Formats: sequence, C-alpha cells, structure tokens
Amino acid sequence: MQAGLNLVGKALTPGAQRSWWLREALAAEASAPCPPMNGDINADVVIVGGGFTGLWTAYFLTEANPNLRVVVLEQDICGGGPSGRNGGFASGWWDELDGLITLYGAAPAVQACRAVSDSISGIGEFCRRHGVDAWFTHAGYMFAATSAHHEAACDELVRLAREVGVPDELRALSAEEVKARCASPAFRSGAFMRDGASVQPALLARGLRRVVLERGVTIHENTTVTRVDAGPQAVALCTQGSVRAPRAVLAVNAWATGWPQLSRRLVAWSSYIVLTAPAPERLANIGWTGGELITDLRTSVRYFRTTRDGRIAFGGGGGRASSRIDDSFTHDMRAVVEAAEGFRLLFPSFADIPLEDGWGGPIDVSPTHLPAFGSLASSPNVFYALGYTGNGVAPSHLAGRVLADLVTGADTEATRLPMVNPKPRMFPPEPFRSMGAAVVRRAIIANDTAEERGVKPNPLAATIARMPRRMGFLLGP
Ligand SMILES: Cc1cc2nc3c(=O)[nH]c(=O)nc-3n(C[C@H](O)[C@H](O)[C@H](O)COP(=O)(O)OP(=O)(O)OC[C@H]3O[C@@H](n4cnc5c(N)ncnc54)[C@H](O)[C@@H]3O)c2cc1C
Repeated sequence: MQAGLNLVGKALTPGAQRSWWLREALAAEASAPCPPMNGDINADVVIVGGGFTGLWTAYFLTEANPNLRVVVLEQDICGGGPSGRNGGFASGWWDELDGLITLYGAAPAVQACRAVSDSISGIGEFCRRHGVDAWFTHAGYMFAATSAHHEAACDELVRLAREVGVPDELRALSAEEVKARCASPAFRSGAFMRDGASVQPALLARGLRRVVLERGVTIHENTTVTRVDAGPQAVALCTQGSVRAPRAVLAVNAWATGWPQLSRRLVAWSSYIVLTAPAPERLANIGWTGGELITDLRTSVRYFRTTRDGRIAFGGGGGRASSRIDDSFTHDMRAVVEAAEGFRLLFPSFADIPLEDGWGGPIDVSPTHLPAFGSLASSPNVFYALGYTGNGVAPSHLAGRVLADLVTGADTEATRLPMVNPKPRMFPPEPFRSMGAAVVRRAIIANDTAEERGVKPNPLAATIARMPRRMGFLLGP
C-alpha cells in the first residue's frame, strides 16, 4: 500500500473498476448495454461519443424534431468516459471572464457566461422534468485561497466581475466567511460564485441515456468509430458496420487528440479523484453541510465536494499529459497519491477517515482554456464540441443546444455565441505538442506545490510553467 493512502482493507488500484459514481448509477438501473453496431444503416444524424456532449445533442435534436433518426455510437457504455467519472461540478463561467474578455470582448463574454448559467438551471430542469435524480444541488461554488498569491488571484476574479457589471455573480469572502462554509486550516480568504451546482455525474449521464432511448434515439454501445468520411453524406465507419447520414457530430472529448481534423486543437491532461468513506459527523464538525462546490486556486486546480452520504470527493493534484488516451489516464497510482496528499493537506481532521476509491480520466485542454463548438472548415456537415479543459459538465449542456441548432440549421441566440465557430487556435505539431504538454504539466504542478508551501519555486519549473502564456496560450500562471 502506498504511503499517505489509508484504504479500507484492500489496496486501491486505479482503473481496476469503474468510478464509484458509475458503479452506483449502474447498480440503480435495470438496463442492459445497447447492442454494438453490426451492419450498414442510414440515419439523419450520427453522433460519435455517448458522453454528455453526445447525449445532450441527441436530447436537443429530439426536442427540435421528434422524427429525426439519430444514432449515437459509443466505444464503451454511455457515461463510461469522463462524463460518468468527473467531479460533478456544474459550475458557472464567471471565473473565466479574464480569458473570455481577452478572446471576445466584455459584452460577448458576459453573454457567454449567462448562457452557461442558463445551462446549469437547464440541467436542474431536465432532472425535474424527466424524473432523473442526479442529486442536482444548486448551492454555489466557493474559491478558497491557500496562499497569498491565490488571495490576489481571488481579488482579481471579484474585481473583473464588478468591472463588467455583474458584482453579484462573484463576491469576495473574508477568511471568516470561508471558514463558516468549510473550516480547513489551510484556507484563507476567498470568493463565492452563486452559479454552481453539484450533480452525481454518472446518474445524470445514465438518466440522459434513458431519456433519449425513450425518445427513439438509437444507441450502439461497445462500438468504436474508426473514422468519419466526409462528403454530402458523412459515413461513420465502425469496426463492424457503418452509419451514413447527412450530418455527423464528433463528441469524443479528449479522444479528439487522435482525430486528424481536430488533433492540434487540444492536448489531453489527466485528472484524478479520491473518495473518502462516509463521515457526515466530520463534515458537520468543519461546518461543510451546505453542499457548496469548493476549489483552491492552484493552476493545476484542486476541486472538492460532498456526497449525499457524507463523503468528500476530492480531485486534482497530479496527472500526466499525452496526446494518446492510454492507461496513464486511468491507472496512474502516482496521480491518486498526489490527489490523496492534497486531500490530507487541506482536511487534516479527516486523517483517520479512509479513502475508499480513486479514479481518473482525460481532460481535453484547449489553447484558450475554453471550449469551442462548430463545424469543420473542411466538412461543414461535420460538427464538433471540444476543449472543455476539465470544465464540461455545464458547458456540454450548452454544447448540446448549440450543436442541435447547428445541425438543424436554426439561427438562434445559442449559435451566435462567441465560442461558436471561433477562429481555431492550434497547439504546435507533434512531437512538440505531446512533449511540451507533459513537461509544462509537471512544471505547473511543481510551481503550485512550491507556492502552497511558501517556498520559492524552482526557477526552471517557474519559467517552463509560464511558457504557454508567453506563447500566446491562455494556460498556466
Ligand atoms: C477526473 C475528472 C474530473 C472532472 N471534473 C469535472 C467537474 O467537476 N466539472 C466539470 O465541469 N468537468 C469536469 N471534468 C470534465 C468533464 O467530465 C468533461 O468536460 C465532460 O464530461 C465532457 O463530456 P463529453 O461528452 O464531451 O466527453 P466524454 O464524457 O469523454 O464523452 C466522450 C465519449 O466519446 C467516446 N469515444 C471516444 N472516441 C470514440 C470513438 N472513436 N468511437 C466511439 N466512441 C468514442 C468515449 O468513450 C466517451 O464516452 C472532469 C474530468 C475528469 C476526467
């Protein structure tokens, strides 16, 4: 057993089983996997990927036109990817104002933030309307600074919100106010964003799957799409069969690193979560009973939330970067240990509470730290959403709305948002993309850790961590 991990009875092996969220969700349903694709069929729209993006797109397409023949192709089961194993933070974009203003200007930035806020409410409405109990809790999102440097970053978030005329969206919290919501000895002052809801992500993904199936969408699980051939009819070629349709949607998240049309628009970084045993009395002791989402302000981001049965799910702290989605995104013990170390540092009063689970997955990092939705310049009938950069729970709902409108040719407020068909931003070609991403990721983590310990960061790590911004990317310190 690894030092720092206090597990229950057995060694925790990341990747050996599905995430706790998805295990819980699958245990609560009676549904069998949808059959794999076998044969050649026609459809009106073919969607590659059965995560939030693909399923929301299918949902909004069937809202617009119940008669559309929509086919979803998923290599695993729906929700088997990051949609069924993320932190469940459906968070607003008000903390993204800086990047949004740099890219699009102040008014479009506010418009984009409002659209994401609508999506948070939209997820709640979906759950109510369709009887999906995904634990939707709209309790807000707290930023808790753990260093002087982070306090300054927090002040800047609050200042920007005030400057663009939305002071209520992000307001400052004193150290006492932070402590009243969650008393960690590591926390200083902070900020509070009211737009933040927690969900049990796998219950949401599986609920979406149920609803779209009920609406007549065809889903083929355990079906890998090897390529999509463009043309007036797009053809999604699977290992055993194909789907031909006038419109195709690529909703493959970090796996887009392997799609030639999209690969230079992202790199994949991993993120890992550890989960405690239930300890509701300990949560009460530190006053964290309001259901708030919490994050610190490390560039490599730690994020934590509670569960209905009084656990803490704690994410971040480590991870690798790569342009191929391999086992390092799911089986990385070092990343689990780093996440566990972060948890133990911020929650010392949980020192004797065991960590019962740990899992990881890829996040699709874009050069702007923000997603883009649109159609491929080379194939206008092939649509995509990518680049959530680890923040896709609420934006993927918006992506589904946008993609459904783009697919059906509707000109709506959603399709006029600034992140729809923006000028593509590219990372350098391989091998520089992968090598650079891996080196920068480790440098950012080393830099964050030094800052948190109050020691001077290694000058080389500090220089490397700052390189992306120097190169014009909106990433890193
Ligand atoms: C550990 C972790 C924690 C996170 N925490 C948060 C959080 O708290 N809040 C937040 O907003 N975001 C979070 N994220 C990010 C969030 O999970 C994603 O942004 C979101 O799920 C994206 O949804 P998606 O449908 O685009 O991608 P996915 O859920 O990855 O779905 C894409 C699907 O495409 C399938 N696929 C890929 N290639 C093929 C192919 N060739 N053929 C067929 N199918 C294919 C995959 O199997 C996958 O199921 C986290 C991510 C991770 C990994």
